[in-house]
Order: sequence, then C-alpha cells, then structure tokens
Amino acid sequence: MKLKGDQSTSRALNRRLILNLLRQEGPKSRAEIATITGLSPAAVTFVIADLIEEGHVSEGKAVAGLAGRRPIPVEINYANGLAIGFKLMVDSVECVVTDLATSPLGSMRLTLADRDPENVAKTLAAAVPLLVQYAARPNAQLAGIGISMPGVIDNDQTTCVRSHRFAWNNVPLASILAQKVKVPVWLEDDTNAYAIAQQLFGLGRQHRNMAVMAIGVGISCSLIIEGKLYRGANGAAGKFGHVLHEEGGRLCECGKRGCLMAYHSQVSMLRTWRERTNRNDDFGLAEMLQASKEDEPAAVNILAEAGTGIGKALANLVNVTDPEVIVVGGEAVSFGDALFGPLRSTLAAHTFRTAPPLLPDWEDNSWARGAAALVTQKFFDFETSGGTSASSEALAKTSVA
Ligand SMILES: [Zn+2]
Repeated sequence: MKLKGDQSTSRALNRRLILNLLRQEGPKSRAEIATITGLSPAAVTFVIADLIEEGHVSEGKAVAGLAGRRPIPVEINYANGLAIGFKLMVDSVECVVTDLATSPLGSMRLTLADRDPENVAKTLAAAVPLLVQYAARPNAQLAGIGISMPGVIDNDQTTCVRSHRFAWNNVPLASILAQKVKVPVWLEDDTNAYAIAQQLFGLGRQHRNMAVMAIGVGISCSLIIEGKLYRGANGAAGKFGHVLHEEGGRLCECGKRGCLMAYHSQVSMLRTWRERTNRNDDFGLAEMLQASKEDEPAAVNILAEAGTGIGKALANLVNVTDPEVIVVGGEAVSFGDALFGPLRSTLAAHTFRTAPPLLPDWEDNSWARGAAALVTQKFFDFETSGGTSASSEALAKTSVA
C-alpha cells in the first residue's frame, strides 16, 4: 500500500497514529500527544508541523490556568475541505455535502430515470456544483466524492463488480464520474461505507473490532477488524443476508434459495405481512409499523420470527469474529423493540460468551454520510487506525511484559 506524504514508513505511521488520536479524543497539546502515543516529543513536533503546513490540523487557543500558561492544543481542521456523498438506490440517490468530519452542510434527493451507468454518472455530476453551492463555504475545497451502492465493489474502490439490484457487471462508476468532475471519486458497498462512517465518527468511534449490520432491502453485516474494514479477497465480505436460512426455501435476489434476507429483510418481512393478512401493495413500511405498535398479532409474530432468525445467524457470526459491539442500521430499525427484543434474547442464548451490545442507529442521514466518510478516510489516511489511547497503552504494557 502506498503511504501518503512521505517515503518513510515510520513517519507515515506516526502521522496516522496522531491523526487517529485527535479524531478519537479531540484537541490535544503536543506534549499530551507524545505521552499518549509514546512517540518522542521531537517526532510529534515534526509530524504536527507537516500537518499544519498541509492545513490538516490547526492550533487552538492556549488556556491560561492557575499554574500559568497552558500548552497550545492542536486539532483536526475539519472545516478545511468538503466531501460529497451519494447513496445510490435503485430509483433515487440521497446526496449530502459535508465537512471533513462528515457533518452535513446540505442535502438533496435525486430521481434516477434509469440504471444506465453513463446516465447515472451524468446525474451525479450535475448535482456536484449544486451541492458545493449548498455548503456555502467558498474557501473550502472539494476533497472528493464517495458513492455507496449495494453490491460487490473491487478492492480499488472504483468498479462495481456485481450488483443484483442494478443488474451491473464490472461497471467502473467511480472512474466514469471522476472524468466528468475532476476530483477523486471512491465507490464502496453501502453497508461497508456506513460501517466506515460509524467507525470514524459514529457509534463505533471507540471500538477497534465491531460488526455493523444493516436490515433494509437486504441484510448485510460489515466487519471492522483491528480498526480496518474487512473487505475479503474479492470485496465480497459481509454479504450476511445470503447465509443459509432454509434449504430449498424462498428464491433470493442472488438467484439461490433460502437465504436469510429472503425471509427477514425489511422488504421480505413486509411481503410476508401482506401475504398473511391479505393486504395489497398499498400497505407499506409505515402501515406495518403502525400495526406492530397496535400489537396486531401478524405483525408482532413476523418481527419476532425475524428477530429470532437474524439472531441465530448473528450469534454464529459473533462466535467466529468476537466484535466489541454490533451497530444496527437500515429501515428495519424503526420497528424498535418488537424486532430487537427477540433479536437480543436469541443472540444472548446462542453466543459462546456474553453477547456484545446491540446498538441501533436512529439517525436518518447516516447512510449518505457513510458515502462522504469514504472521502474523509482517504483524505486523512485514517485506515489501519493507530488505535485508541487505551489500546496503545495496552499494547505498550504487553510489549513490556
Ligand atoms: Zn441470496
């Protein structure tokens, strides 16, 4: 892997370590950074000088205390740039423009006339100047664009290798868009992008090992292992919705039968509810949600079955990967305890050790922010996190012992 900024590996690693510390802990003085990371004061001063010159970090105000003038804290300069995130769905695109901490500055929703890659790229390119204008930060440069979509994305994060929902094979969408907009573009599976955002700035900020599950049109579960997204050999890791639920069962969008998501994705739950209660397509997620709140037995049972079914599969995943927490997002989160109650109890019943906490993410805009997080991660080179201060201390202790 090419390291940014310097030929020297140790300098690049020090740089990552310091940026990740500032991201996780907020402003810190040079002396504090040296103490927490174990780097020498000279090395810290050296890296910080570089980062200030590049505009990545800036100096805060020294606070005068009883003991005299306190050291000047440094912090990440998130206002220095803009990121654009596009979350592609089959018929629409959620668009967001954010600062480099993925805090939204403006958003909009576009309709996709069709799924032709060239037309999709044209629609996205046309939205870029509008989004930059919405951000209303004339001095901030656009650092890049992140696109998230359901599918298998290559390890270079440029090409959609396969997406069943878009019927795409080997579409280099990031390259097609980059030619039109002249800024870097990264493409990623939507749950992977969401997991990156959760790790950098969301519910997983303090965790190095976590699972990020999405229950919506499909079901997927991305893994952050030792501070890094696990993409697998072909970028196809995390396709949790396609684990076997029932041999020879319902047909799945992947062409196989009996996959977990063919039963318990939000869309599949809705389909089962309509079938069992003789309702037509006019009844959607909002109606099923209302029925579950009113304790309608059909709705309550379907959510309990889903909680149990997903919980069993998730327990297997937990027993293999041992995450600290499991973050859950996607449309099905709105079902709340009707789904999470059975899910938590099933998980607890089948995990080898105490089940990790299940953390529902209630924020609506997390998904487009996930796409924007692809930019932030590349811009600061956060990947392969140097770890929290706690874990680097633990590491230091281990090496002494
Ligand atoms: Zn499948």
